[in-house]
Amino acid sequence: MSRIVMVTGGSRGIGAAAARLAAEQGYDVCINYNSNCEAAEAVATDVEKAGQQALVVQADTSKEADVLRLFETCDKQLGTLDALINNAGIVGHMTRMEDMQADAIDELFGINVRGYFLCAREAVRRMSTKHSGKGGTIVNTSSAAAYIGGGGEWIHYAASKGATDTMTFGLAKEVAKEGIRVNAVQPGLIETEIHATGMANRLEVMTPMVPMGRTGSAEEVAEVILWLLSDAASYVTGALVPVSGGR
Ligand code: NAP
Repeated sequence: MSRIVMVTGGSRGIGAAAARLAAEQGYDVCINYNSNCEAAEAVATDVEKAGQQALVVQADTSKEADVLRLFETCDKQLGTLDALINNAGIVGHMTRMEDMQADAIDELFGINVRGYFLCAREAVRRMSTKHSGKGGTIVNTSSAAAYIGGGGEWIHYAASKGATDTMTFGLAKEVAKEGIRVNAVQPGLIETEIHATGMANRLEVMTPMVPMGRTGSAEEVAEVILWLLSDAASYVTGALVPVSGGR
């Protein structure tokens, strides 16, 4: 029997790479997206080409009703989850503290923090042996921004990833005896479309600051996510793993 993984924000970037790699490693994949249906369908096609089942579900992870529908659809159409990749996120626009808009802070924390909590909650309700589940694994996509701080760019984004890190090791301890491992990756400068929201040429400008002297690919992050999900990482929980070229 195939294992089942849900990838939030699975339509593009790191989530799409993780969904494709998960399929190659024998998972059926629930691919969540918010607005880019075409990209999500392209990922689903690749999952099916790898011989696995794909389910595409639109849901805004910052909205509780959407998250409930996402998990219920997955339950009904794929089966009970073995793994969650909590990944859907935004950076928002670059802004200094004195110019920060309340609505922008709310939107960012709504997706990056509230959304991660809601999805983790639904996963625990299904996976925990305390709730008659069979256990499982959760990987949160955090960011190197959590320890860099985002000053001069997006402190609100960095702080949302700090919250992700705290949730990761807190939840890991809370459910460690209930069959669930919880870990996070902290990607550095990864080649995806997310940077364009902040600055068109951000990757080019920031690359010299990476000790390895290059950007990373979404596939390189996906490899670490899939390792954390796998039985090879059976004694790893509460870990924050930088995938950042040394940054
Ligand atoms: P991306 O290429 O912009 O992809 C973002 C994904 O999140 C898309 O699938 C998007 O769906 C989805 N999404 C956005 N808002 C959503 C919402 N409200 N509900 C559901 N899905 C939503 O970004 P990425 O670089 O792969 O980023 C993925 C994660 O990695 C994020 O949490 C980000 O903070 C983190 N990260 C990225 C980097 C980097 O350098 N790229 C570094 C550190 C951390 P649609 O396609 O429908 O828009």
